[in-house]
Amino acid sequence: MRVRFAPSPTGYLHIGGLRTALYNWLLARSSGGVFILRIEDTDRSRFVADAEQDIMDSLQWAGLDIDESPEKGSYRQSERTDVYNAALGRLLADGRAYVAFDTPEEIEDMRSRLATDTNPNPRYDWTTRSSMKNSLSLSPDEVAVRQKRGDPYVVRLRVDPGSVVRFTDVVRGEVSFRTDDVDDQILRKSDGLPTYHLANVVDDHDMQISHVIRGEEWLSSTPKHVLLYEAFGWDVPQMAHLPLILSPTGGKLSKRNADKEGIPVFVRDYMAAGYEPEALLNYLALLGWHPGGEQEVFSLRGLVDAFSLDRVGQSGVQFDKDKLAWFNGQHLRRSAPSDIARGQMNALCAAYGDVDEERAVEAASLMHERMAFASDLVGFEYLFQAPTGWDEAAVKKRWKDDSPALVLAYRDALLELDDWTAPSLEACLRKVAEEHKAGAGRLIHPVRLAVSGVSYGPGLFDLLIFLGRDAVCSRLERAVKALA
Ligand code: GLU
Repeated sequence: MRVRFAPSPTGYLHIGGLRTALYNWLLARSSGGVFILRIEDTDRSRFVADAEQDIMDSLQWAGLDIDESPEKGSYRQSERTDVYNAALGRLLADGRAYVAFDTPEEIEDMRSRLATDTNPNPRYDWTTRSSMKNSLSLSPDEVAVRQKRGDPYVVRLRVDPGSVVRFTDVVRGEVSFRTDDVDDQILRKSDGLPTYHLANVVDDHDMQISHVIRGEEWLSSTPKHVLLYEAFGWDVPQMAHLPLILSPTGGKLSKRNADKEGIPVFVRDYMAAGYEPEALLNYLALLGWHPGGEQEVFSLRGLVDAFSLDRVGQSGVQFDKDKLAWFNGQHLRRSAPSDIARGQMNALCAAYGDVDEERAVEAASLMHERMAFASDLVGFEYLFQAPTGWDEAAVKKRWKDDSPALVLAYRDALLELDDWTAPSLEACLRKVAEEHKAGAGRLIHPVRLAVSGVSYGPGLFDLLIFLGRDAVCSRLERAVKALA
């Protein structure tokens, strides 16, 4: 299996692009095949200078390693013009392509001249080409004169009517189309560069691509590609068109409607927001592919083992940011607290001054089950410093008239406690509550609030162990004074 990811460097890598790359990569890795990165940069008008670097960085962050790429060979289309020119020469010599001199105005003119109600948008094709200025309609002499004086020209594919062409899409099954309905596509533009269609087909053949796996938006180009393969006399690779990624409100997930929904579209945004790359890939894998069983959470290795093209669906799939956050939490649980903490040391020190790495690891262990993002760790202020305030709603609900007396009695008992463990901290709390003829909840909630400033968090006694006797006792005292 030789597969390729072939982005155009017209912008930063989009999550839809990452999904395409992922599916290709998974197939290469599961079959011992080859994963190629090809940069399709023939459209100079939409070229973005740092896009290629962004694509490389994004794939690297995601952990999708590349076997053949512009770094290792000729995989940038702008550097392969000779290859396309040689291919064009063959088509011209075989009469499968022709040269056309029409200006954009002349083509526009033809469109308005020939437009009818049933055919409002006439194409440059077998029905119209004889009325245009090309090497099929002009005399060889005139063509030679025009070429000699350097008239701008394009090269078009000659598509003959009257046949039906079929191909099998791995995802969509058999697709057929009539050549009557296909225009004489441009293969070489007047700037001398090949069009996407030509370069794409020539490269897929030249690079011996076995499977073309790409987004559904390219399905409508495939007839043109199949005709080109036929014109060259080459075999068509296996084709697989992946379902569209839809916005939660329907419609394709474009940059515009993603912005409206607060969904980042560029991979670099997920990187910056602290997503686990494996979680994003896990989520993207399921956006179009069904594993078949109940399992949803997969490591990248697990995806390699489970993935197959025959479980890729046809219908569009909605992007769900909450579900992605859930996957992020799931993957975070699989990483070691020490790794989580280490990745957050800079942010922790920026927020709380000098934070000890060992403390940060303990904090990450304590909160491991409660984080959706590694960066959540920084948000648990009370783990790194005494609370600077106490949540008002929680105070209203939990801080009762008897709270100060109970909390201070617990503080006194804690000062005497020999054994700073969860069972002993709990037994001590129950004893104090009993002595005051109160339920344990009368103490549990105010103590949590006093030490953390909020009414939720990890198990209370685990939290007290983490904070240590000095911090707990001084925080209890402070809260009693502040909340008086
Ligand atoms: N350059 C096209 C893109 O930007 C590639 C489509 C294909 O894979 O053939 O997506």
